[in-house]
Amino acid sequence: MQNQWDYYSMVGFAPETHSPEELERLTISPEDTALFLDFDGTLIDIAPTPDAIRIGDDDKKLLAALSERHNGAVSVVSGRNLKDVEQYLEEFTGTVSGGHGAELRHLAVQLPGIECDLERLEHIKNVVREFAIINPQLIAEDKSFGIVLHFRQDPSLEAKVREFLSGLVEGDDEFGLQPAKLAIEIKPKCISKAHVIERIMSFDEFAGRTILFAGDDETDEAGFAWVNEHGGVSVKVGDGLTCAHYRTQSPETFKHWLWSQTGATGS
Ligand SMILES: [Mg+2]
Repeated sequence: MQNQWDYYSMVGFAPETHSPEELERLTISPEDTALFLDFDGTLIDIAPTPDAIRIGDDDKKLLAALSERHNGAVSVVSGRNLKDVEQYLEEFTGTVSGGHGAELRHLAVQLPGIECDLERLEHIKNVVREFAIINPQLIAEDKSFGIVLHFRQDPSLEAKVREFLSGLVEGDDEFGLQPAKLAIEIKPKCISKAHVIERIMSFDEFAGRTILFAGDDETDEAGFAWVNEHGGVSVKVGDGLTCAHYRTQSPETFKHWLWSQTGATGS
C-alpha cells in the first residue's frame, strides 16, 4: 500500500475509478474511435526479460484488421525504443510511438524527437549500467531517451533500486523517475504518453475521433487520467489500482475483445 501511495503522490493525482467496468460491456464504433495501444503487457505478454517477448501471427493480423477497420486511426504507444517496436511489428505501417512518447513515426516517417541534455543523459546511463554490473540480478535496458533498471529477477531489490535512482536524479529539473512493472526508469520529465497521444490526435486520420487508450502499467496511469479528462475511454489490462474506466484481465482477453469489435473471430 505504501508503494501505491508513493506512486500516486509522485504523479500528482489519486485513482478516480475504484471499480472499473468489465471491458466486455463496451462496444466501440470503428468510424468514431481512435485506438492507442500500449505494447508490453497490453498486446503482448510480459516476459522475464525485455527481449524474450513473443509476437504471434494472430497479433499481426489483429493490428492489420484494426487499422483497416479504423481507417488508419490505430497507434501503438510503447515505452520501448521506436526501433525495437518496429522490429517486432515489421508489417504494421500505422503510427508508432516509442520511449513513452519521446519518439514518433507517422506515415513511415520518423518525426523529430524531444530535446534534452544528451550529455547528462549519457552520464546517467553510464552510472546505471555500472550499478547493474555490480548487481548482476538487475537488468539495465537502454532507451533512446532514458534507461530502465529491471529488478524482475529479484523483486526484493526494489528498495535498493529506488534509493539508488532517486539519489541520481535528486534535484534534477530535467530527469525524473518513472515507476513500471518490476522496474524503474529514468526519463526526461517532459515526455509522456499523454503528450504524444495529443500530438497524434492532430493527424488527419485521428482528428475528431474519441480516444481509446489501453495500457497495463503504472506508466500508463497518467495517460489514462489525461484521456479521461479529454472525453476518451481508458482500459486497464490486468490487476492493480487504476483510474481507467474499464478493465480486462490479460493481453489475451484484451485481444479477444478487440477481435470481437472487428466482427471477426480471430484467435
Ligand atoms: Mg505496458
